[in-house]
Amino acid sequence: MNKLTKKISYLLPAMRISFTLVLLTISLLLIGELIGFAPNERQAELRARKLLSESLAIQFSIIAVNAESQFYHFLEVIVNRDNAILTAGIRNNDGDLVFHVGNHAEQWGDYNSQKSTATNILVPIIKEGKTWRTVELKFAPLDYDKFPGNISSSIYKLALFILIFGFFAYLFFVLRTLKQLDPTAVVPERVNAAFDTLAEGVLILDEKEQIVLANKAFAEKLGRTATSLLGIKASKLDWKDKYEDTVKEIFPWISAMQSGKTNMGYKLDLPVSSGVVKKFVVNCAPIFGDHNKVQGVLITFQDVTLLEQKNIELSSLVSQLETTQIEVTQQNKELHFLSTRDPLTGCLNRRAFYEAFGIEFAKAKKDGTELSCLMADIDHFKLVNDNYGHSRGDDIIQLLADILHSNSRKNDLVGRYGGEEFCVVLPGLSANDAISVAERIRLGIMSDSIRIYGEGGPNVTASLGVASIFDHAENPAELNDQADQALYVAKESGRNQVIRWDPYQERLPESEEETAVSIAGLQPLVTARSAAPSDEKERTSSTVETDR
Ligand code: GH3
Ligand code: MG
Ligand code: MG
Repeated sequence: MNKLTKKISYLLPAMRISFTLVLLTISLLLIGELIGFAPNERQAELRARKLLSESLAIQFSIIAVNAESQFYHFLEVIVNRDNAILTAGIRNNDGDLVFHVGNHAEQWGDYNSQKSTATNILVPIIKEGKTWRTVELKFAPLDYDKFPGNISSSIYKLALFILIFGFFAYLFFVLRTLKQLDPTAVVPERVNAAFDTLAEGVLILDEKEQIVLANKAFAEKLGRTATSLLGIKASKLDWKDKYEDTVKEIFPWISAMQSGKTNMGYKLDLPVSSGVVKKFVVNCAPIFGDHNKVQGVLITFQDVTLLEQKNIELSSLVSQLETTQIEVTQQNKELHFLSTRDPLTGCLNRRAFYEAFGIEFAKAKKDGTELSCLMADIDHFKLVNDNYGHSRGDDIIQLLADILHSNSRKNDLVGRYGGEEFCVVLPGLSANDAISVAERIRLGIMSDSIRIYGEGGPNVTASLGVASIFDHAENPAELNDQADQALYVAKESGRNQVIRWDPYQERLPESEEETAVSIAGLQPLVTARSAAPSDEKERTSSTVETDR
């Protein structure tokens, strides 16, 4: 059944063409006949009848003059011989039928005209110069008069002949021609079979860009049969470019044909019947014929749909990884921050502070640059806790930390040493500069606590000790200790002041001596105990002169 349908579908167009050709030929024949290009048989027949009549007239005249009986006999012979003549009669001048062959009276009818027609021919017999009798010859009707349109019957017969035999002749011819034009016949079967073994899609185009070969792989990718692709222009397939848009550029096979050069690695997308968009890498190589003329192009289609999909997935994975890495780095940073910071104040915790202090100290020693260290402690902080509560005490600790931060630079180290005691390392700063910073801090805590808490308090002050690396400390701990000793002196000598470590004041005095300390141009606020000279050098308390 399937085979039959296939055969019919193959034959039907050819039959249609053949029938059209037959009709066309018949039409031309009839038009030619009507216009007068075909020989006119009617005219010829009439002319023949006329000639016959004329020759009979002469012969009748001769015979009638000599022997009347022979004349009748002669007429009888003529009628019997010529099938075209049905009957004959001889009429005298009075109109009486004096002799007849066949049922002439009936055939002739009541025709009284003196003129001959195509079927009724009058032949006058002349005797002594006058019409003696008239011979009437009844001819069979002309064939053409039986058919419409004054067209000869032979044309109709010819048309019928063409209709029947011409149809088959044309059908045979059309089938032969179609077979010749069949694109599948252009490529031998074994070549087709060879290309079908390839996993890559292959198309061969002729110079008009029409597909003359599509291998199985390409057809299957498109969800079509290879034969259904034949004859189609390659660019008429629904190609899209990388932007999923219809291709605006020249197709690679066209440029390969135009330039005569191979065109490699062109990317094209093609939506296929299943709705999937196939992605191809297209390579085109021109096919040369005689005289190096490009006769077509061979195209290979590498299906990279899966590869592209994997690439997309991979890039998405990479970006996800990058995001994760950023998040991990961020979390690490946060973790590092948390592990190095004091949770209450955000200052470096003791461990992190000493780690960084060690690095800065070593650097300053190596480069021979300045580095100062200052210690700060809130005065009578226990009273704050006792009078205002631990929470307010925390607020005060945070306030001091904020003041320390706002008075230090980015590369300064601010560490919470313990409780309400802080240590600040100031790389590159001399002792005098450090004293200025310390003084700003001292004034800051004093004024801020008044500004924030007003009359009701707590109004706090802080004491600070300063030491410089140029005071010959050997290590960070020693420098820290020197600043701490200066702080201790500040505490001991009245608090709310800044004291620089005195190189000669190596340890706390054994005997107390009241010494005035002037800070930042202020009147001495309190008295401080200076270290007792141990080596008979002049032992003085540190007098801080600031720029402010
Ligand atoms: P001085 O002027 O001599 O420094 O007197 P002071 O009362 O401040 O004495 P000290 O510095 O020894 O007191 C420290 C007090 O700080 C002891 C402790 O109760 C309190 N403290 C330590 N850590 C914290 C803290 O995190 N929060 C609060 N609110 N108090 C703390
Ligand atoms: Mg204190
Ligand atoms: Mg303390």
